Amino acid sequence: MDPKERIEKLRKTLRKWGHEYYVLDQPTVSDQEYDQLMQELINLEEKYPEYQSASSPTVRIGGEVLDKFEKVEHDHPMMSLSNAFNHKDLRLFDERVKKNTDKEFHYFVELKIDGLAGSLKYQEGEFIQAATRGNGTIGENVTQNVRTIYSIPLQIKETRPLEVRGEIFMSKDAFIKANIEREDQGNELFKNPRNAAAGSLRQLDSKIAAKRQLDMFVYSLMTPEVFDIHTHEEALSFVKDLGFKVNPLSKRCDTIDEVIALVEEYTTKRNTLSYEIDGVVVKVNELSLYEEIGYTAKSPKWAIAYKFPAEEVITKVQDITFQVGRTGQITPVATFDTVLVQGSSVSRATLHNEDYIRQKDIRYGDYVKIKKAGDIIPEVVSVVVEQRPSDSVPFDMISHCPVCEEPIVKKAGEADHFCVNPDCPAKKMEGLVHFVSRKAMNIEGLGERIIEQFYNDQLITTIVDIYTLKDKREILITKEGFGVKSIDKMLENIEKSKSNNAHQLLFGLGIRHVGEKVSKVIMSYAKNVFELFDITKSDLIEIDEIGEVIAESVISYFQNEENRKQLEMLKDLGINMTYEIKKSDKLDLQDKTFVLTGKLEQFTRNEAKDMIELRGGKVTGSVSNKTDYVVAGSDAGSKLDKANDLGVKVLSESEFLDLLDR
Ligand code: NAD
Repeated sequence: MDPKERIEKLRKTLRKWGHEYYVLDQPTVSDQEYDQLMQELINLEEKYPEYQSASSPTVRIGGEVLDKFEKVEHDHPMMSLSNAFNHKDLRLFDERVKKNTDKEFHYFVELKIDGLAGSLKYQEGEFIQAATRGNGTIGENVTQNVRTIYSIPLQIKETRPLEVRGEIFMSKDAFIKANIEREDQGNELFKNPRNAAAGSLRQLDSKIAAKRQLDMFVYSLMTPEVFDIHTHEEALSFVKDLGFKVNPLSKRCDTIDEVIALVEEYTTKRNTLSYEIDGVVVKVNELSLYEEIGYTAKSPKWAIAYKFPAEEVITKVQDITFQVGRTGQITPVATFDTVLVQGSSVSRATLHNEDYIRQKDIRYGDYVKIKKAGDIIPEVVSVVVEQRPSDSVPFDMISHCPVCEEPIVKKAGEADHFCVNPDCPAKKMEGLVHFVSRKAMNIEGLGERIIEQFYNDQLITTIVDIYTLKDKREILITKEGFGVKSIDKMLENIEKSKSNNAHQLLFGLGIRHVGEKVSKVIMSYAKNVFELFDITKSDLIEIDEIGEVIAESVISYFQNEENRKQLEMLKDLGINMTYEIKKSDKLDLQDKTFVLTGKLEQFTRNEAKDMIELRGGKVTGSVSNKTDYVVAGSDAGSKLDKANDLGVKVLSESEFLDLLDR
């Protein structure tokens, strides 16, 4: 691929992942995957400086600033850190520092706590403000939430204005507790402690933040010269004396060899800590050298973050069992001797399908290497063939559903097996769990465990039963483990879900190949679920992003008499069937006219249209003098030429994203 194209592609992907990680707190890939692409981009930009750009993710720091919190401008930018992934990178860092200064210096080595950066300000000895890093220049005011963190002093004996920075995090125990609570309430689980800390700190209700038991280690003091402090080590002991929590596992080192030895030591200590760390930070200890050594646009040159590689742990496969999903998909799951991987215990991992098991040749009793992909989902990396028992037999796929015992089928060209029995209880139950899940009908208080119980008690066997549950209130409140209050709250949430936007309903129906995004795409075209009763395959294929496979799946669902009846019943029970675009409060594109042309990478044209309309703009089909912007994706044709002829402003997809501030 041409380097320019590759650079653009990397930027797009990293922007998307960055948005998911920093803004939505919903990462979809592991940090290692992110770091790898980021490194590729850094290397390419170094090699081809002509393509450098001020808006590249290599230059911009982290997150965006959400509208819901008041903005805070940082007095000094809150920077990121450049990364090292191995000993060689650490030695190169040492060489670079030495090139920038000929004075004698030491290193200071600290744990890299996996949370999020926070700044705390004090005046006249009183805590006055806390902010997140945001985009490095502007952060979010999270003072109310930070006040609830017990380890942060609200008063200190130093009366001069003071700012400290550090990592706000959630301990492993608090994380497990928070997730148990979320599971009970039927909420989606936090992916990891970092994600939990970020989500809790950005709670608008500080009572909820208070319950989450956040904590903070302070790792820097701003304007140390005011306090006549000359080394980082002194700064930390100064803030410790003021009552801040400082991580005890920090140490001064004289040489890079000592640093590397300590990095190794911390790597082995990692699992014994009560909080997550994702690396080790190495800083020059002498503060007077900071200006001399200098800064890049994104990070100081006097510090580096060594990132741990994804940890791989060996364990024994005890068994391979089979799960039946809502679409009937049969998923083999390996159960292991429980082991600790990156701080959490792992005892099972999906093996996806028969082909996957055959490719890796995973057998009962094998020793396997496992790691966490996406920082949370355990994955089998490979079999340790040397440790294979001599009498082991290759894996054999089952032929019947483990729940309803009907034969299972595998379509030609597909990797997965399916249970096709429409009455299979496992499928039904999974379908119900999916229906109430957060991105579908989002019914809090009706989590997996409760669904299972109600299903077994025959209180809910179809999605229609969910909406008639209120007629069974008297029975429900007498059930063991349920209080009147929790039942009423659950019934209230069920009622509330009736007015959800229709794409949530469509997604909740669990139609094969119709995920969250496809549901939106289809509903922004159809507008009403009942339109789908008569829709044809060619209508569907005409929609951007909908191909044959999705179209066939949708048609077959809506041609099914049972499914149609079910939707009629839902409508009669008052469930909203129409799709509406809710106007945002931010109408900054009011009166602006857009024309979209060419193929966009990150979303469909329909989605782009929705985003523009949400902000008050208008989208038309042809370019004229009245057009304000033409958004041109790849392979744009005559509309782009016309825009250039008329002098209409043309935006690339990334410029369009910048305009939307996404
Ligand atoms: P970073 O995590 O690489 O390092 C900087 C941060 O380290 C600081 O802001 C601070 O919060 C933290 N830190 C912890 N202990 C510290 C200490 N003792 N001293 C100084 N700082 C300390 O940088 P970043 O810009 O916050 O995040 C980038 C990283 O986030 C990436 O390397 C990647 O791993 C992850 N990321 C992942 C995804 C994803 O989709 N998985 C997306 C974006 C970013």
